[in-house]
Amino acid sequence: MAKEEIRRVKCLIIGSGPAGYTAAIYAARADLNPVLYTGLEPGGQLTTTTDVDNYPGYPKGIDGPTMMVEFQQQAERFGTEVNIGMITEVELSKETGGIHRARVDNKEWIEAQTIIIATGATAKYLGLPSEQRLRGGGVSACAVCDGFFYKGMDVAVVGGGDTACEEASYLANICNKVTMLVRRDEMRASKAMQHRVERIENIEIKYNHEAVEVLGENTVEGLKIINNQTKETEEIKISGFFLAIGHTPNTEIFKGQLDMDDAGYLLTKGKSTKTNLPGVFAAGDVQDNEYRQAVTAAGTGSMAALDAERYIGSIEEVLEEEKEKSVSA
Ligand SMILES: Cc1cc2nc3c(=O)[nH]c(=O)nc-3n(C[C@H](O)[C@H](O)[C@H](O)COP(=O)(O)OP(=O)(O)OC[C@H]3O[C@@H](n4cnc5c(N)ncnc54)[C@H](O)[C@@H]3O)c2cc1C
Repeated sequence: MAKEEIRRVKCLIIGSGPAGYTAAIYAARADLNPVLYTGLEPGGQLTTTTDVDNYPGYPKGIDGPTMMVEFQQQAERFGTEVNIGMITEVELSKETGGIHRARVDNKEWIEAQTIIIATGATAKYLGLPSEQRLRGGGVSACAVCDGFFYKGMDVAVVGGGDTACEEASYLANICNKVTMLVRRDEMRASKAMQHRVERIENIEIKYNHEAVEVLGENTVEGLKIINNQTKETEEIKISGFFLAIGHTPNTEIFKGQLDMDDAGYLLTKGKSTKTNLPGVFAAGDVQDNEYRQAVTAAGTGSMAALDAERYIGSIEEVLEEEKEKSVSA
């Protein structure tokens, strides 16, 4: 039986969030004929939220799923091939001009001259049933995204790291009161960040406290908390419950092949989207543990496609020169 031929493409995009689709728009317009795999969450994280009010170009705001359908349509308009499927394994070439391989759904392989990784990051939740039920109804993992909806209200933030402090200070500017729940008797955050939140008058820090249950039928109305030392419980009235206990970048399949930081975020070179391997680029939350916004993800998506296009251009030039040399020899 003839060996099944492996399909080879110029540009493979992994992920269908703002980074992946923006990379696709740019790559398609540069004639890279991109092939995109959506993963298990077509449209990415924004499909889990109702209102997106901070993405430029939508003066009246837009709901996340609709916005991501529009991203997809724009990418398809220029010829992007969008496929439902998960990349489950990769074999990345270390050579400049080398061919990378990726496996779809543990089945067939696809080869690519360039790969743009836009697999995002997943926010960590506590795992409380009430928290999951009220996601989008006052439970959020992004203060910058959703804080505005709780203007003048009381909210709580869970976490004791730098991010939790950042989120609490951001919310304190908008909200009436912010209660910070810190599981231990001290924070993991840097001293500077701790002092910053301690000085803000409308932030109350409750050490040794954990959330037990988010209260409310359809929207958050309160929070049951426990002092993990005394075991005393109490209920506080809040309208927003913000998780700030970290994110997990979706980089498991790249471990051992691509450079990552301790938390697993892909490392890129300088201001570019280049990873440590030629022809492999990273865009969006998968390489950004700092800003994590749709607009920044889209921005780096466009950069990745431009980097991929230049990379292919430079390889073609080298191949052309080699061809000319062998003809004249
Ligand atoms: C509830 C919520 C509300 C938010 N609200 C806002 C907001 O109002 N404004 C704002 O700017 N930002 C908001 N954000 C943040 C924003 O969603 C992210 O910054 C943005 O989606 C990151 O885009 P991305 O393309 O990097 O990754 P993601 O959106 O995370 O997309 C990752 C994609 O990769 C795919 N994928 C993962 N692994 C694989 C694989 N192995 N193979 C194939 N595909 C794979 C996934 O299926 C997904 O499609 C919000 C986030 C959340 C969770």
